[in-house]
Amino acid sequence: MRELTIKIKDKKRIKDDVFLMDLYAPEIATRAYPGQFIHIKTDDKITVLRRPISIHAVNKNVISILFRVKGSGTRALSLLSDGDTLNVLGPLGHGFSLKPRKNDAFVNILIGGGMGVAPLMFLAQKLTNKESNIVILGASDKNSVLCEKEFKTLNCKVHVATDDGSRGAKGSVTDLLLDLFNKDGFQGKANIYACGPEAMFCSINSIIADKKNVNCQISYEQFMGCGTGICCGCTVKTKTGYKKACKDGPVFNIREIW
Ligand SMILES: Cc1cc2nc3c(=O)[nH]c(=O)nc-3n(C[C@H](O)[C@H](O)[C@H](O)COP(=O)(O)OP(=O)(O)OC[C@H]3O[C@@H](n4cnc5c(N)ncnc54)[C@H](O)[C@@H]3O)c2cc1C
Repeated sequence: MRELTIKIKDKKRIKDDVFLMDLYAPEIATRAYPGQFIHIKTDDKITVLRRPISIHAVNKNVISILFRVKGSGTRALSLLSDGDTLNVLGPLGHGFSLKPRKNDAFVNILIGGGMGVAPLMFLAQKLTNKESNIVILGASDKNSVLCEKEFKTLNCKVHVATDDGSRGAKGSVTDLLLDLFNKDGFQGKANIYACGPEAMFCSINSIIADKKNVNCQISYEQFMGCGTGICCGCTVKTKTGYKKACKDGPVFNIREIW
């Protein structure tokens, strides 16, 4: 982990409140792996603590972040311009394991609920056999679906679910997951990688409860203080004791938690 000053190469508003930012950061780009995050200091005079944001994609020396404006920190970030600099710590955290099961042909299923899509693009960039990777994206309506085209560019098979049915299937990402297991089955073998709200994790967990050959890693985002394991502000209760989301996570095996 390093403290770095990095330059904004490009900032785009991709939805009303969602921004994609490219940052020139060779020190992070060469060391990061999917599921890790950067901890950003914003100079807005209101936000005291740094804000954790996932590494969304990596292209050569450039890392991208995708974020939704929620409060003061992300608003300050959204107001910055190309050429401005950011003070960050990173790469931080324990990310996704790309080969949780080594010996069998497992299908990869990436599930992003809302902004949960953010860390999954870097994962899709890194997973091999992209044409057999399935991505399930969830959003409230057609205007809120994120990154569908980009995952297709990486040759992933993309399924979309929206709450109001205005794009893809009407319902949730977990309705789609259940559908896929019922229709295809994948011989019961799958690696699931998920990021999204807690209710989504609960539902995934009940779908896979009786599927011994389904491995599921989740990026379990918590409010964070230091981001480096010192303050214990992001402690998570797991079956093997309390763990820190910033250091032992944010990626955990779902069965460690539920
Ligand atoms: C490891 C990690 C990676 C993340 N990656 C991304 C990302 O790639 N893109 C992105 O848009 N967001 C991401 N988040 C969430 C992001 O950090 C928060 O939205 C951000 O800190 C909010 O800061 P703020 O000052 O704008 O809002 P605040 O004023 O701090 O909060 C505004 C509202 O957002 C909610 N909120 C704040 N922090 C969190 C949090 N950690 N989890 C859930 N809800 C929160 C609160 O309920 C609050 O009401 C990530 C969080 C973690 C822990």
